[in-house]
Amino acid sequence: MKISFHGAVQGVTGSCHLLKAEDANGHERQLLFDCGMFQGQQMCSATNLEPFGFDPKEVNHVFITHPHADHTGRIPKLVKEGFRGKIYMTRPCIGLTKLVLEDAHHIMKEDAEKCGSSVLYEMKDLLTAFDQVEGIGYHEEIEPFPGIKISFHDAGHVLGSAFVSVKAEGKTIIFSGDIGNDDVPILPDTDRIHDADVVVCESTYGHREHEGRPERSQKLKAAIEETIKNKSVLMIPAFSIERTQELLYEIDLLLKDELKTSISIFLDSPMAIKATQLYRENQNYLRFEAPMLEEKDRDFFSFPNLRETLSVEDSKQINYEKPPKIIIAGSGMMSGGRIMHHLIRYLPDPKNQVLIIGYQARGTLGREIYEGSKKVHIFREEVDVNAKITAIGAFSAHGDMHKLTRWLQPEDGQTPKQIFLVHGDPESKEVFATHLRHQFKTEVVIPGFEEAFTL
Ligand SMILES: [Zn+2]
Repeated sequence: MKISFHGAVQGVTGSCHLLKAEDANGHERQLLFDCGMFQGQQMCSATNLEPFGFDPKEVNHVFITHPHADHTGRIPKLVKEGFRGKIYMTRPCIGLTKLVLEDAHHIMKEDAEKCGSSVLYEMKDLLTAFDQVEGIGYHEEIEPFPGIKISFHDAGHVLGSAFVSVKAEGKTIIFSGDIGNDDVPILPDTDRIHDADVVVCESTYGHREHEGRPERSQKLKAAIEETIKNKSVLMIPAFSIERTQELLYEIDLLLKDELKTSISIFLDSPMAIKATQLYRENQNYLRFEAPMLEEKDRDFFSFPNLRETLSVEDSKQINYEKPPKIIIAGSGMMSGGRIMHHLIRYLPDPKNQVLIIGYQARGTLGREIYEGSKKVHIFREEVDVNAKITAIGAFSAHGDMHKLTRWLQPEDGQTPKQIFLVHGDPESKEVFATHLRHQFKTEVVIPGFEEAFTL
């Protein structure tokens, strides 16, 4: 059995891992786990256009852990280059993946016009890809080839997210995808692993500890109270999938129980509005702690102060709304989207605040602001950053080092014999590798780009 790594080895994006395993009849089968896009400031980054380090025509099937573009963004390219197998993912993952890939295509076209590069795929490739998609239930075992068994398990990262277990050649290999945080109020808990021989594990926050959920709720409350007191603007750049819905849920809880306020809250992201609708439609995959749905004026992620501004016209109206107000807008790393217009307008005023609730990748405007830059460039305009910048780590959709360690420590006590660390910045992987070697006395490998290993 062979494994090779074709993305998410030099950073957190581009997840794509190839497993070659023999089935019961001795035929070698090629299975791909995730097929993500490399992301940075611009999606037209040349890396995405480079050929895959394998032949897409030779890949038998693809297994997708969750909808995020850094795990799904190169699927249409794979199809365009001749992949004809099935693309397996959980059922709630399908609608969200479509939303993500359509959005990525849209941004890519804009970027391509700006930097004169070619687009990664056309809309028709995306549609063809969805003809090959097959929905699968959690904990349902499939056997695509005799002797190769595959199942999806709750990862607690976003709606529809999974880690994937593969049984082949007498071994169990687990691909973590992205592992969620502890105490996620709206998702089921992360499943535990069993009898894994090899784990390919993400390490986004392998070097960090998140604060707990009560603390995050208090920080959020403080930010809202300050905004009301200062009659100012609170900007929350949010990722459309999961972070936005968790945030809405937390704000709803706060408004209902602790803060009696009529402050206006705008959800100013078409993508987040559509994703929230998919969350409503897939509510049987969610869990809720509060009996808030029994109240007449509340349904999933809707409450009286909240306004969804889908059209550009509605979005522009936000400017005329008197503060205090809360604006939730994408993109989450402030690398595009409607948040850019709000930042230009509101960053210079020291009374305003930006609340950062997610990972900010190197090279993004979000990272610059997070690290305390006093002047930034947005659409070639120089903007003074006087607004207060606050970060809440606990909103992260990724588990911290403790959560990842607990997840890797199976219930039956048998620790994995080999762990490959992917999906993390170099320092995060190094710190986490040292920690794991000490904790588990097991082999921990940090693979290089396109490096292959025999298992
Ligand atoms: Zn993810």
